[in-house]
Amino acid sequence: MIKRVAIYCGSRMGNDPQFAEAAAALSGYLAKQGVGIVYGGSSAGLMGIVADAALAEGGDVIGVMPDNLWIQERAHKGLTQLEFVSGMHQRKARMVELADAFIALPGGIGTLDEMVEVLCWSNIGDHNKPCVCFDVNNFWQPFFTLMEHIQQQDFAHHQVPLLKATQPAELLTLLNEHAAA
Ligand code: AMP
Repeated sequence: MIKRVAIYCGSRMGNDPQFAEAAAALSGYLAKQGVGIVYGGSSAGLMGIVADAALAEGGDVIGVMPDNLWIQERAHKGLTQLEFVSGMHQRKARMVELADAFIALPGGIGTLDEMVEVLCWSNIGDHNKPCVCFDVNNFWQPFFTLMEHIQQQDFAHHQVPLLKATQPAELLTLLNEHAAA
């Protein structure tokens, strides 16, 4: 059973209002189901939306913020727990440690970097926690296309699936089906 998920998402809102709506719907749903959230600890962009929606449902939200980022990204003041770490590598490692699964919402290069890293670590067997893209309005479609391309060109290792969901309940069911034993 998935008890806590890491959510990676943009520190900006993006230009489609459905990104924020979907971010709030997903984290609110997870909170209602008793699933905790760990994320980057910011109040900015979709990151803030994710935290606020889960907290509004009484959810448990842990933020992990690098010391050097908290001013630029405005650390969220109302989290269940806010941890400061010394850099990006420490942030990523701590989030991986705390989470049973990894979710990417729409976001920028930081979101992409974090998702690719957990996927890479999964492929080399460093962890066996599921990774899923919450594909709001096909935001992640180019990434899925690239992943297929890598596979077709025979650069994939043993293939750990990158999961895809478009609805909150579908996403949680998928994660529980693929949860590490
Ligand atoms: P973005 O998707 O670019 O808005 O970034 C989302 C979050 O990832 C923000 O907290 C960024 O500061 C963070 N981030 C950006 N680059 C990295 C990185 N190399 N490693 C970890 N987090 C990052």
